[in-house]
Amino acid sequence: MAEGDTILRARRRLAEALVGQSIAVAAPDPRGRAAGIERLDGRTLEAVDSRGKHLLFDFGDLVLHSHLGMSGGWQVYERDARWRRPRSAAWAVLSGERADAVQFGGPTLRVLRASRVAIDPQLARLGPDILAPDLDLAEVVARFRGAERSRALGDALLDQHLTAGIGNIFKSEACFAARLDPRRRLADLSDDDLRAVLGAAREQMLAAVEEGNRHRLRVYKRRGPCARCGGTVSHGGQGDANRTTWWCERCQV
Ligand SMILES: [Zn+2]
Repeated sequence: MAEGDTILRARRRLAEALVGQSIAVAAPDPRGRAAGIERLDGRTLEAVDSRGKHLLFDFGDLVLHSHLGMSGGWQVYERDARWRRPRSAAWAVLSGERADAVQFGGPTLRVLRASRVAIDPQLARLGPDILAPDLDLAEVVARFRGAERSRALGDALLDQHLTAGIGNIFKSEACFAARLDPRRRLADLSDDDLRAVLGAAREQMLAAVEEGNRHRLRVYKRRGPCARCGGTVSHGGQGDANRTTWWCERCQV
């Protein structure tokens, strides 16, 4: 599953391979053709931007918007390298001078006018990116303070309108690091609690961007006792989408 750290890494890889080049665009799978991505063929890719879990490819007055959801992915290959999946399954193939970027699956792939990005319903309401270099954590805490007070912490952390980029893994890990029970209501948490859990999410995700792995996971999908205190690790669904959260019954209160 692509959370903000995965997307930021993809953005860097894609930008390094393709920015500043004239891009040949192909859509082998009908989903890419339906998205109209062939309109981008021959244009220069000016930049690749990420906002939480969203990727935006800047082609001047047109923008390619990608959201990978649970199942999608971008892969970057040197020219003539063997792809891990068949070309016919690719929704988008962006070919630069020496590399091909290939996209498979996911809920969103579309082309929109650059002038629409600021008012687009999917993009305009996103909260601050938890990985933004200039993130103002106090602003994010204030957004949580303004949210429905009966919401559970674990559910609110996934709300991309409060802050963008956190997914199921780092929701659980950040609550564990801050020793907070993800089932607690926002009304029962102090500003310090919120700062601690949001700061932990940011720190863990930035580390994952640099390290490119998640081997330091301590509670997510943990089988067996808590690595910190030996207590029981539980899991359960939260929020309207019933997304699974993992926590320790003893050391998260
Ligand atoms: Zn514990």
